[in-house]
Amino acid sequence: MIYVVVGAGPAGVVAAEQLRKLDPLANIMIIGSEPEPPYSRMAIPYYLTEKIDESGTYLRKADQHYSLRDITIIQQRVTKIDTAMNTVITESGEKYRYDKLLLATGASPSVPPVPGIDLPGVHNCWTLEDAREIVRLARPGASVLLMGAGFIGCIILESLVLRDVKLTVVEMENRMVPRMMNEVSGNMIKRWCEQKGVDVHTSTRADSIESAGGGKLKVNLNGGQSVEADLVITATGVKSNMQFAIDSGLHSDQGILVNSFLQTSNEDVYAAGDVCQGKDFSTGEYTVQAIQPTAVEHAKVAAGNMVRGHRSEHIGNVNMNVLDTLGLVSASFGLWMGAEGGDSSELVNEDAYRYLNLQFKDDVLVGASSLGLTQHVGVLRGLIQSETPLGVWKDRLMKDPMRIMEAYLACSQAQVATA
Ligand SMILES: Cc1cc2nc3c(=O)[nH]c(=O)nc-3n(C[C@H](O)[C@H](O)[C@H](O)COP(=O)(O)OP(=O)(O)OC[C@H]3O[C@@H](n4cnc5c(N)ncnc54)[C@H](O)[C@@H]3O)c2cc1C
Repeated sequence: MIYVVVGAGPAGVVAAEQLRKLDPLANIMIIGSEPEPPYSRMAIPYYLTEKIDESGTYLRKADQHYSLRDITIIQQRVTKIDTAMNTVITESGEKYRYDKLLLATGASPSVPPVPGIDLPGVHNCWTLEDAREIVRLARPGASVLLMGAGFIGCIILESLVLRDVKLTVVEMENRMVPRMMNEVSGNMIKRWCEQKGVDVHTSTRADSIESAGGGKLKVNLNGGQSVEADLVITATGVKSNMQFAIDSGLHSDQGILVNSFLQTSNEDVYAAGDVCQGKDFSTGEYTVQAIQPTAVEHAKVAAGNMVRGHRSEHIGNVNMNVLDTLGLVSASFGLWMGAEGGDSSELVNEDAYRYLNLQFKDDVLVGASSLGLTQHVGVLRGLIQSETPLGVWKDRLMKDPMRIMEAYLACSQAQVATA
């Protein structure tokens, strides 16, 4: 068998390793378009704060990791799939035949339609190449403007503060991490950041960027204010890297469409990771989650299904994000904004920066968000994923959500007893 994996991020690497385990004699190759050995974008914040060097971001550290497993790595950009001939074609015209193909090409930052966004000094923070530029420009004392305070923006925010820059954050929604936190908790994070010296503008948009001379940039905000910066970093969302797949006839929506076996509209082609519109555990719908745990889970399931004689269904991933913003840990899981016809309970302690919000459907916990409560992260995820009936604990949690740990222990013991 010949397996070709396009994309050398976590989804591509985990899939190739899994293919090797399941099919020891197969021919396996990864084709990736970046010049570095396969690396983890999740490690970039540690590189920005100089906790690790570039090699610390590599997904596998041993020199001969891939050659020892007989996995060939080719550095090329794939531009076409010839599904009739089971061949992928790279930008330099090379052709690679496959029996089964996995698309694990990830996502790229969306470029906001702001005049001046292509000026020198405006960067994304997505690749190692971007990170090198940020390290060069974000010197202690430099002025940096971060556009976007979503999950990725907030991860970068922490690294920038640790680099001792003068930081301004601009977010068009009315709170920070709007896809993870509601107005109450998102604004608690904002207040926390402001106390640490970050200038945060929510409900604000960057209208245009212009050169201010001397290598500086001027960012004009919609309220009429402008901010001078040595560096502007954009973190305003991502989109799946799938144009070549669409042009090659594969079906797509927000990502490449797959069935519950992660198989695309072509039976020999599978998809995994940020490029894949896979099943969401909580809703049963197909969405792009764009987080690493989902990419890795997709990769394992897809690789299994690519090997003849193996068949396993993807039950869906719980959408979850855990974020450390300057020491304040926030987390959201599943249907954190609530289920239709469901109930919710909330604890707010503004002074202590503590927040807990539980969302129920009948007596099952289906979503949660929390702030400043690190010890609850595993419990919340466990209860949602196991769909444990809470019984009498549902009413107790409606009165006091902080009893979640007690509820978890009581309900899991009850489940063991009845098993
Ligand atoms: C700064 C930062 C911090 C993050 N922190 C977290 C975190 O804390 N937790 C979390 O869950 N997620 C985090 N993420 C998101 C996480 O990195 C992604 O969800 C994850 O990388 C997805 O893995 P993937 O393999 O699908 O895609 P990617 O890692 O993007 O890998 C895709 C690969 O495909 C290659 N490729 C693309 N197009 C082609 C083509 N046409 N031909 C050949 N190769 C191609 C790309 O160059 C890349 O090597 C972070 C992301 C960033 C940028």
